[in-house]
Amino acid sequence: MACCTGRRPNIVIFGIDSLSADHMSCYGYPKLTTPHLDELSYEGTLWERYYSPHIPTTSGYAGMLTGRDVFGTQVVALRHQGPMRAEVPTLAEILGAAGYNTTSIGFEGNPAARGFQKYINFSGWGSWEQRPSRKAENLNEVTVPEISRLAGEDKPFFMLLRHMDPHSPYLPPSPYDRLFYHGDETDPENHSLDGMWAFKPFCDYFAAWMPPGCTDAEYVNAQYDGAVAYMDACIGVLINQLDTLGILDNTIIVITADHGETLDEHDCWYDHHGIYDNTLHVPMIIRYPAKVAGGQRVPGYCFHKDLVPTILELAEVETDAQFDGTSLMELASGDVASHESEFYITECTWMRKHGWRTPEWKLMVALEPDFHFKPGIELYNLVTDPLENTNVAEQNPDIVATLRGRLEAHVARRMAETGLPSPIENQGDWHGIAGLGPFKTSQQAFDTLHIGDPGQAQRLQAESRK
Ligand SMILES: [Zn+2]
Repeated sequence: MACCTGRRPNIVIFGIDSLSADHMSCYGYPKLTTPHLDELSYEGTLWERYYSPHIPTTSGYAGMLTGRDVFGTQVVALRHQGPMRAEVPTLAEILGAAGYNTTSIGFEGNPAARGFQKYINFSGWGSWEQRPSRKAENLNEVTVPEISRLAGEDKPFFMLLRHMDPHSPYLPPSPYDRLFYHGDETDPENHSLDGMWAFKPFCDYFAAWMPPGCTDAEYVNAQYDGAVAYMDACIGVLINQLDTLGILDNTIIVITADHGETLDEHDCWYDHHGIYDNTLHVPMIIRYPAKVAGGQRVPGYCFHKDLVPTILELAEVETDAQFDGTSLMELASGDVASHESEFYITECTWMRKHGWRTPEWKLMVALEPDFHFKPGIELYNLVTDPLENTNVAEQNPDIVATLRGRLEAHVARRMAETGLPSPIENQGDWHGIAGLGPFKTSQQAFDTLHIGDPGQAQRLQAESRK
C-alpha cells in the first residue's frame, strides 16, 4: 500500500460473458470450478443474490456499466440498434473525466462500451476443427502487457475485461476438457441430446463445435464447467501479476457477468435466452481490502444497476450522473437488507418476454409466440420448484393476476419517472429480419430463426455495434 498512498485505486472489472453464478464453487456448485475466484471471495465480499435482470449481452453490459435499469438505458435487445442515449454516461466516461486511464479488453461497439480511451481485442470464438479454443490465454496475451503499461503511468487505471470462455463454443484445452467428464460422449445408448439435435434453429451451430456424434448432455455440461475452470486459472495469472507489481491491494477487483447460461435445462440448449434464474443469477465479488471486508457474504437482493454507484463510492469519485441503483456497500454494511426484493425482468434474445420475480414466485409473459412453443404465461414457485420445471400458471390464476398487476404498475411507474417508453414493447424487428414484425405463431418463429456456425454467432454479436 505504501507505494500507492494518495493515488486513487485502480479498478478492474472482470465482466465475464455467460458466467452463471450457480456454476461457481464459491456460490455452492459442488464441483471445484473456480478456485481462484473463490479465493477472491474469501479476501473480499460476495453478494449472494445479485441479478442481471435484463438479458442478454447488449442489455446486460448496458446495466452493468451505467448504473441504470432498462428504462434508463433504453437498451433491451441483443440486436440493439444505435448508441446509448447521450444523457447516460458510461463508467469509462465518468472515470476518464476523473483522471483515469481507461482500457477495454474484448469489449467494443456495445452501446455501453462507449468512452474508453483504448480498445484491445482478442480471439474469443472457435470451432471443432480449430479446437481447443484458448480464449482466456488469448486475452492474457494482450492484457498482461497492458497492465504493465498502465501500472507505469502516473494516473490510476480502469480496465474492463470481457472473458469469452464460458460463452459457447465451449472448447477448453486439456486437461479442462476432461476435468469434469470421464465417460463416452458418443455412447449410442445415451439420448440426452436428442432434443437438442432436433432443435432446428440451433442444431447447425452445435454441429460446428460439438464432437461429431455427441450424444451425452453431461459431456457438454462438463465442457462449460471446464471452460469456467480454465478461465479461472487464467484469471489467476492476472491477479498474480497485479500482486507482483505491488498494486493488488490498491486495485478494486470486481467479478461479475453480463448474464448466466442455460445448459440442457428448459429446452433452451446451451445459450442464454429464457428468463429462468440460471440466466439471471450472476456473480458479484469485490476485493478491495481498504474498504471491503474479507470473507463476507451478503444475502440481500441486488442488481447490475447497483455496480457503478458502488465503484464510484469505493473510489471516491464524484459525478453529476444519475443512477437507478444504489451502492452495494449499503447491503454489505447491514444498514439495508434489500432495496428491492421483487423485480422486473426482460429478455429480447431469441424470444421477447418480460416478467416479475419475487422471493417466492416467477411470472413470465411472452410478448409474442416463441420458438420453443412454450405457453404465453409461465408461473413457477421458486420455493418448492427452484429449478423452475413445473409451470403452475393454470392452477393459480389469482397469483398470475396479482403478479401481472405488479409488473404493469412497475412499468407504468418507471415510464412516468423517466418520461421514456417501455423498451421491450418497442422492438419491431428485434429478430433482425427487416419488415417482418412480431412473430404470429411459434411455428413461424421456429422456421425463421436460425444460427449456423460460430462465425455467424460472432457476427450476430457484432451487429449490436451498428
Ligand atoms: Zn453475453
